[in-house]
Amino acid sequence: MQTRLQARYKNTPAGQRAERLLRACVHCGFCNATCPTYQQLGDELDGPRGRIYLIKQLLEGQPPTRSVQIHLDRCLTCLSCETTCPSGVRYHSLLDIGREIVENAIPRPLPERLQRRLLLATLPEPKRFTPLLRLARGLRPLLPKPLAQKISPPQPAPTKPRPHRVHPRRMLLLDGCVQPTLAPNINAAAIGVFDRLGIRLHTAPRAGCCGALNHHLADSDRARRYMRANIDAWLPELDAGAEAIVATASGCGAHLKAYGELLADDPDYAEKAARIAEATHDISEIIAQEDLDKLPRPPSRRIAFHAPCTLQHAQGLHGKVESILQRLGHELTPVPDSHLCCGSAGVYSLLQPDLAHRLRDDKLRNLQSGEPEVIVTANIGCLEHLRGGTTIPVRHWIEEI
Ligand code: SF4
Ligand code: SF4
Repeated sequence: MQTRLQARYKNTPAGQRAERLLRACVHCGFCNATCPTYQQLGDELDGPRGRIYLIKQLLEGQPPTRSVQIHLDRCLTCLSCETTCPSGVRYHSLLDIGREIVENAIPRPLPERLQRRLLLATLPEPKRFTPLLRLARGLRPLLPKPLAQKISPPQPAPTKPRPHRVHPRRMLLLDGCVQPTLAPNINAAAIGVFDRLGIRLHTAPRAGCCGALNHHLADSDRARRYMRANIDAWLPELDAGAEAIVATASGCGAHLKAYGELLADDPDYAEKAARIAEATHDISEIIAQEDLDKLPRPPSRRIAFHAPCTLQHAQGLHGKVESILQRLGHELTPVPDSHLCCGSAGVYSLLQPDLAHRLRDDKLRNLQSGEPEVIVTANIGCLEHLRGGTTIPVRHWIEEI
């Protein structure tokens, strides 16, 4: 694609990156075929090719508008378009640039501003999120159904015993921000499985939210602060012999793997961030290469696996979880259109509830079509989103092994 970037963008690292990406796009539109928002809305500007065109116009000097902001907001950042693109266009990088330009130029309506501020002030901060969730759970029976569906009931306390054995091998577990409150069983199950595999899985004291939420809401300063704090917490542990950083939420794992790219222009942290990205693994990557004979065989179940976009598209991990579940004796039911997003997408289901619910209904229809006993996934956001729309149990896959 020909480009004529404005001088104020042309000479910046972001502008140069955008120019390379725009030139790689041949405007073929293959990406539209696998874009969930294009499929739902049928508008070129709600597909990747149209959004790329809108971002190109911004960089060439067209003034940002509220309409452009709405089309960019509707993007799920699912990256299905990147998996499909034959020219290897890294759309997410362009989207980050476009969203930042629009965010700085177009003031949002007051209710949107307040909603975003509230999400940013609570979700990444467990000390605020945990008491708020408790309060919301207490009020759940009194709330209207659509709102009550968004608040998951409390999970039973972790049932698997915490390991006490000493292992020479150890890895760092990303505790994350909302997951320990919403579903404490997930990390407890992961610690138990790793213990049986002969690995101590533990958290680092000062690590916290990965920064993904702030990044996706164009709050890049605070996103960088979270990232730098995590780097400072994990590097000494890696130096002291921890083998890897393990994420049980694929959304957080995908973001950690992008630290190197996101902090590439930070002179103090660029190298350190690249090291953290290199050391990060989704939990399925670690388990797949360990000796599964060390694990007791669970009772075989009929399972539908929902592959989160952050696992299959952002991290490019296709088939790993499925293969582990099958090797342990589970039966996987077929899931049509498994490449499509469920509509969760971080806080998308809160910011774009109508589209998110349409996508969830389609996803649940496909997941349930093979009559599974249980639906499993690999990301807390998808898990909570799907759980609100079905009576079939929805769990993290690590709880099934
Ligand atoms: S598939 Fe790739 S090259 Fe084709 S329009 Fe989409 S982003 Fe551009
Ligand atoms: S990231 Fe997902 S929703 Fe956004 S343009 Fe790409 S395919 Fe469409």
